[in-house]
Amino acid sequence: MITEVLTANQLKKEAPVFGQLSFDNHEQVVFCQDKDTGLKAIIGVHNTILGPALGGTRMYDYKTEWDALNDVLRLSRGMTYKAAITGLNLGGGKAVIIGDPKKLKTPELMTRFGKFVHTLGGKYYTAEDVGMETSDMDTVREVTPYVTGISESKGGAGNPSPVTAYGVYMGMKASTKFAYGNESLDGKRILVQGIGHVGEELVRLASEEGANVIISDINQERLEEVSAKYGVEIYRGNDLYAETADIYAPCALGATVNNETIDKLKVKVIAGAANNQLAEENIHGPLLQKKGIVYAPDFLINAGGIINVYAEIEGYGRDQIMTKTENIYETTLDILNKAKATNMTTNASALSIAEDRIAARKKEL
Ligand code: NAD
Repeated sequence: MITEVLTANQLKKEAPVFGQLSFDNHEQVVFCQDKDTGLKAIIGVHNTILGPALGGTRMYDYKTEWDALNDVLRLSRGMTYKAAITGLNLGGGKAVIIGDPKKLKTPELMTRFGKFVHTLGGKYYTAEDVGMETSDMDTVREVTPYVTGISESKGGAGNPSPVTAYGVYMGMKASTKFAYGNESLDGKRILVQGIGHVGEELVRLASEEGANVIISDINQERLEEVSAKYGVEIYRGNDLYAETADIYAPCALGATVNNETIDKLKVKVIAGAANNQLAEENIHGPLLQKKGIVYAPDFLINAGGIINVYAEIEGYGRDQIMTKTENIYETTLDILNKAKATNMTTNASALSIAEDRIAARKKEL
């Protein structure tokens, strides 16, 4: 295999796309450019065996185009497994737009992007992600039907974040049951890193159950606001990862579980909303297992958002959305038990279930 004979630098030069470390047999990667609007976007279609690839569009001021490519490859792969493990008939895709949304995002740029999405003829459905608003999806909807997460007033399922938070809460409770023998969060010390759309709702759910929640964010104003609203403590130390607690809930950025942080972590459970929490799943999954930290796979427990937008395609309502999201509790518990029984990492165990579902469907096609 090419990755075995070339160094990372050679890979970039000699196999810039198919040889990327994040490349994982993606079906299609589409580079989109429009000089007039300044649009530079990459759409990654990872796998469409279970259905059309669905995943949000992230607009971010990437340092390099390599970073953007890497991100779209990793994120689109994650979507494949998220949909598969959740039992949805969807494949995995994602899009990135390169640039600072505050400076570059215009209705013209979003319209042009929507037209590119449309050229894929429904192979890829887009949605909201970091740097996007529901109104941007409404703009895209004007030029293509292959978009979800549009406003409720326009027939969409609305903001997915509260549903995502509910799924994370379910996954957190299941992990707590596995680690402590009891699912209750009452009295548990929980570190919530990132109190944005999802994090705040998670803070509400956990604190209403009697958890001792500690919040951390780079946005001081939000910290004060959320602390006052739910009566939770603001983290005042300088190293959150070294804090003694029961649960760490990453709800800001990916890759926070890495060589440096695993050494310090003093929690029993990791359960949060961020995508790609393990910097490198084949290294950091086993390290967590060795340390006895229960890791709730991110792509499993943060699937509430995709369940919410899937409802738009399938046309089902709030009750079904919430029931499917509640199922995350049982699925998480099953996977944690299966991982223990087979001595696998929880991440690998979840991936293998998702892969089995895709393989079974492939046989039927
Ligand atoms: P958001 O942008 O609303 O909130 C992120 C929060 O993290 C912000 O308050 C920001 O200030 C904070 N933050 C950024 N960098 C930080 C740092 N270094 N330390 C502490 N806090 C920091 O995003 P969101 O919609 O709440 O999503 C949170 C995470 O969950 C993201 O990784 C997202 O990809 C993932 N996710 C979200 C959804 C959803 O439905 N919104 C679904 C699946 C996954």
